[in-house]
Amino acid sequence: MASSARQSSLKIYLRLLSYVKPYIGYFLVSIIGYVIFASTQPMMAGILKYFVDGLSNPDAALFPGVDWLAELPLLYAVPILIVLIAAWQGVGSFLGNYFLARVSLGLVHDLRVALFNSLLTLPNRYYDSHNSGHLISRITFNVTMVTGAATDAIKVVIREGLTVVFLFAYLLWMNWKLTLVMLAILPVIAVVVSSAGKKFRKQSKKIQVAMGDVTHVASETIQGYRVVRSFGGEPYEQARFLRASQGNTDKQLGMIKTSAIYTPTLQLLIYTAMAALMFLVLLLRGDASAGDLVAYITAAGLLPKPIRQLSEVSANIQKGLAAADSIFEQLDEQTETDRGSVERERVSGRLEVKNLSFVYPETDKPVLQDISFSVEPGQMVALVGRSGSGKSTLANLIPRFYHHSEGQILLDGVEVEDYTLRNLRRHIALVTQQVTLFNDSVASNIAYGDLAGAPREAVERAAGDAYAREFIDKLPQGFDTEVGENGVLLSGGQRQRLAIARALLKDSPLLILDEATSALDTESERHIQAALDRVMQGRTTLVIAHRLSTIEKADLILVMDQGRIVERGTHGELLAQGGFYARLHAMGLDEEGGAEIA
Ligand code: ATP
Ligand code: MG
Repeated sequence: MASSARQSSLKIYLRLLSYVKPYIGYFLVSIIGYVIFASTQPMMAGILKYFVDGLSNPDAALFPGVDWLAELPLLYAVPILIVLIAAWQGVGSFLGNYFLARVSLGLVHDLRVALFNSLLTLPNRYYDSHNSGHLISRITFNVTMVTGAATDAIKVVIREGLTVVFLFAYLLWMNWKLTLVMLAILPVIAVVVSSAGKKFRKQSKKIQVAMGDVTHVASETIQGYRVVRSFGGEPYEQARFLRASQGNTDKQLGMIKTSAIYTPTLQLLIYTAMAALMFLVLLLRGDASAGDLVAYITAAGLLPKPIRQLSEVSANIQKGLAAADSIFEQLDEQTETDRGSVERERVSGRLEVKNLSFVYPETDKPVLQDISFSVEPGQMVALVGRSGSGKSTLANLIPRFYHHSEGQILLDGVEVEDYTLRNLRRHIALVTQQVTLFNDSVASNIAYGDLAGAPREAVERAAGDAYAREFIDKLPQGFDTEVGENGVLLSGGQRQRLAIARALLKDSPLLILDEATSALDTESERHIQAALDRVMQGRTTLVIAHRLSTIEKADLILVMDQGRIVERGTHGELLAQGGFYARLHAMGLDEEGGAEIA
């Protein structure tokens, strides 16, 4: 991934912590909880001293100097204290865990929402160059990894870190010389920890990509299951998924291997230190009581676990940072440029294109070259030309799905780049080549987005004008019938008519229709043609047409080839010219053979 060296860990970490800021209150409460928890650890070791001393003299007082406690003999004091300490530890544990969970779940939520919102503002180019599986897995998987760094790690650092600190303080208080000897081992531990950390981060990044691959292959197969089945793609998809899943497994295993080697190594180091300690204790016991020594060894014995957990923290932090890095990469992505300031309540729909040339970002082949034409309000322009000649591209530039740098596109005399994006798109109704329907009712699909509040009569009128009533009325729940994911429960022609109804309801002055080439039966074709005729009335229409009947009525026909306009005129004029269009017409417009002629 290009981003692995993008930002320093510290920068990513600080940025991640800035997301924790809104939860600072909960965070402090949880820290207090963990402080309480950690403070009970040396207490537990300390109590053993009294237990061991109590074995020989159960009637001795717990704190001989304290008057009001002098009455309580060790026999009762030790068990009571153990229960009290455990209860206190429980309080600390609850406060710590519950409030930290509030922080980390809040963080996951915020990041998910931020990622999703950024998807809504990213330019089309971003979608072209990123596959959806990876985008989805970022939202579902990566954000949960982040808590590893942002909150879980902090939990361990605070809880176990403080445990270590309190235990050390206790040890120093009990016997500082012995404790200083123990400290000598620490630098060795630090070296092991930092070398493993780097490895973890690299591996974690790979796991995320592998996770994205799994989602990607699965979602492609799910969406394309018809093609997979009818073309016998099962073995191919199976192999592809196997590879993705296996890759994921291998990478996870690699990561586990690193930590599986690394943890016992550390453990061994720590126990070697313990062994040395025991030796020293036996050698230098001096005048300490048996209780003192047992408490000391117990406290020292409590150390390895928190130290080990602290050392594993770096793995969690590295995983989280790798995830955060990819999240921030998307959040930092440039949003759709929206520098325009012009806002119009309504435009008349005059469209002028002047010397427009266009190259898709990150490619070098010009897709449009020197395109010029103009349409008066209410007129209709038809774009025809063979597949790949740039018709859809031209249509996509008008609502600014891509940025054009050469030439001008003027809507009512104003360059489209000068409108605010939202305002510009309000004036344009677009029926795309691939109809998109949402898994919702027929009515909600027609009244989508800005149109959501439209009155029911308007929705029904739009459906009627799009000649969609005849099939909608036959659906089990009429307008309230669910259409299934992307309208799978409808036929191709029905889907198109819904898309046309949606455009009709929008009632915008400029209509762009990118007709699907799908072969429709004459009945559907007749319906759609009638719907189109109705839609085109009273508005400027740019239609990319494959149906002769649509084109013949156009005020202007532009014949495109390889990104250029090669002929222009009305149907009659072009036929008389006997050029490209005439040949296309003779062959039937939407047949590949027709296009081959040129
Ligand atoms: P059809 O009649 O088949 O719909 P079209 O005239 O609409 O064809 P376009 O979709 O405009 O053709 O494509 C024109 C050229 O631009 C094609 O060569 C295609 O490869 C290229 N192209 C289309 N979309 C992109 C994209 N997002 N990124 C890069 N190149 C693209
Ligand atoms: Mg097209």
